[in-house]
Amino acid sequence: MSAKINNDVVTEKDTLVKISNVKKYFPVKGGILRRPINFVKAVDDVSFTVQKGETLGVVGESGCGKSTLGRVVLNLLPSTSGHIHFKDEEITDKSTRQMRPLRKEMQMIFQDPFSSLNTKMSVRELIEEPLIVQSNFSKEERREKVEHMVEKVGLRIADLVKYPHEFSGGQRQRISIARALILEPSFIVCDEPVSALDMSIQAQVLNLMKDLQEEFNLTYLFISHDLNVVNHMSDRVAVMYLGRIVEIASNESIYEDPLHPYSQILLQSIPTVSEENQDKATLSGELPSPLDPPSGCAFRTRCPFAHDLCKEVRPELREIKEGHYAACHLYNEDNEKAFTKQGEIE
Ligand code: SF4
Repeated sequence: MSAKINNDVVTEKDTLVKISNVKKYFPVKGGILRRPINFVKAVDDVSFTVQKGETLGVVGESGCGKSTLGRVVLNLLPSTSGHIHFKDEEITDKSTRQMRPLRKEMQMIFQDPFSSLNTKMSVRELIEEPLIVQSNFSKEERREKVEHMVEKVGLRIADLVKYPHEFSGGQRQRISIARALILEPSFIVCDEPVSALDMSIQAQVLNLMKDLQEEFNLTYLFISHDLNVVNHMSDRVAVMYLGRIVEIASNESIYEDPLHPYSQILLQSIPTVSEENQDKATLSGELPSPLDPPSGCAFRTRCPFAHDLCKEVRPELREIKEGHYAACHLYNEDNEKAFTKQGEIE
């Protein structure tokens, strides 16, 4: 079976990860009996595929649910409903024990390498630990693999005896990357992997991740609030707002012709060197509470195009241009703009 995704015909054998209608709701308890009285809809009916060897970027403001989505995709957090497939195998309801054989194939790189690394362990112990837990390699084989990997991430064999506090933030993230790669995974969720680093170091770590992706044929789900970083890394981009994907397309299509008003405003507000002092469109208002999202389109309280229909009906994600999907009433059934600004029908 084949499908058309972002101008490329892909077959199902190209798909590494597929998530369908996934929801993750966190109960909010109240009353004397501490029963659920409401739910935070952190991930709300999200579907997408990730193709082998590609990077799917997920971008959105802090609190939009993208980090929760990353953990749900890896089944580190159980989903409330929906289906998650990895290599054609449904992993949605697998227990920790059932996930164990798959864990070495699916890894995560976290935002803050200092808190994700055990500071009492040496670099050698940190990189070797996944091999001890998840493989049957001999001590000598493990030593060889660790020494090979530490050099692959740009550190030295002499660094293996040191401890995390002896390194800079960028070097610590290299240790995290080595630890994630030592089991030779095929899929890595990268959750804001450079946002804790200085700008000057970010590019080095991102380029390292790209080189390693090519060398080890890795597939990334790359989560970030930074559109420049996502642009640098991704083949396709999903824009997330209040737990839902509002737009998804190839990197070129989103950055050259964003269709959803939220994406348009996010992109217009990226600072560039030449335009730093120019007037920019900025997002007005706060991200609404996921406990009490607006009716209809969740973006309507901040959208310059909001219309009566937007209040009443939630727009579904649909293909507006070939391979380019957006959830917005701005486009009619013929995929032409139905109205231009607030309350004005074209
Ligand atoms: Fe704006 Fe309406 Fe589109 Fe939502 S559906 S983004 S409120 S135009």
